[in-house]
Amino acid sequence: MKIPFNKPFFAGKETEYMEEAVALGHISGNGNFTKKCHKYFQDRYKFKKTLLTSSCTDALEMAAILANINPGDEVILPSYTFVSTANAFILRGAKLVFADSRADHPGIDESQVESLISPKTKAIVVVHYAGIATDMNVIMALAKANNLIVIEDAAQAIDSFYNGVPLGSIGHLGAFSFHETKNIISGEGGMLTINADEYISRSEIIWEKGTNRSAFWRGEVDKYGWVDIGSSFLPSDITAAFLFAQLEHLDQIQDRRKQIWNQYFEAFEPISHSVQLPFVPAYATNNAHMFYLVCESIEQRTALLEHLRKNEVYAVFHYLSLHASEYFLSQHDGRNLVQSDRYSDCLVRLPLHLSLTDDDIATVINCVLDFYS
Ligand SMILES: *Cc1c(COP(=O)(O)O)cnc(C)c1O
Repeated sequence: MKIPFNKPFFAGKETEYMEEAVALGHISGNGNFTKKCHKYFQDRYKFKKTLLTSSCTDALEMAAILANINPGDEVILPSYTFVSTANAFILRGAKLVFADSRADHPGIDESQVESLISPKTKAIVVVHYAGIATDMNVIMALAKANNLIVIEDAAQAIDSFYNGVPLGSIGHLGAFSFHETKNIISGEGGMLTINADEYISRSEIIWEKGTNRSAFWRGEVDKYGWVDIGSSFLPSDITAAFLFAQLEHLDQIQDRRKQIWNQYFEAFEPISHSVQLPFVPAYATNNAHMFYLVCESIEQRTALLEHLRKNEVYAVFHYLSLHASEYFLSQHDGRNLVQSDRYSDCLVRLPLHLSLTDDDIATVINCVLDFYS
């Protein structure tokens, strides 16, 4: 029986709420369900302000505009990440300075960041890989000392915490994804979190195509017009309706994901001398976004993926180092990013979704153990 890598989970009321949005007659952005989602996130995670977006990519692009990134500004970010983390800043003319990953975790190596700061540095972008927090005290202290803006790519980090503080609420700005491969989904979808007062009023303007339309709806101005740059970053209220149905089941979704993650972790602990297991630092929580293994070599990974596929278990690798990509290689400063390249070559993600039965989980576990025996 085939075990797919991912299968979107439907909590139950998605289409009912979408029909409700249609019946309400406001299906463009910033409608009833959008407001309900904003309130949910602000209440539950104490974000100062949230704005739903059409994707995390959009939220990152909004963050780059809000951070006032201009041509020549330098932005420090991990090389082991999704292209959107980088594209958002290069679109504004930034010079990207890629950092390596940690040896014990694919997230940015915090200890390297200080040496990458120059007088031109404007922002640090961290990625909470697999929903496991970056050591934010280190990053925020560097930002404070050097007057830098911190943006959290929290695409994978919903309902995860750093020393008890929700991810996405620590940096000046944060970006979440509700793409169908994430824990909480709306097909395509995302959210920008704004945690510093100075970005709040401008964030609504950029969200609404550079107009002060949000202030107009609140009656703060008597007509709205073009006041800044911006784009159409807001999702339709039909998308927000879908998302709200998921949010009502957030705890249930998280509980089951964590159960599966723990079953994998316990089963693979005995082979941890042969294959690197995920590491959760004491300051971080695990939101069970992803279960990954890091093989000893690319050859071993290819063989493991092949072994799994023969047993109809669909596991996948992940990012290719951005500093070594076809697009960026000629612009990279030549530093070797050994850990990033190692994760590119050796990391495997196992199926982790709510359609997995206990039998499926046992099949995946036995297949991996069989490979390493
Ligand atoms: C999924 C993901 C994104 C992009 O999210 P979209 O909603 O698909 O735009 C960006 N960064 C990271 C780290 C991701 O995992």
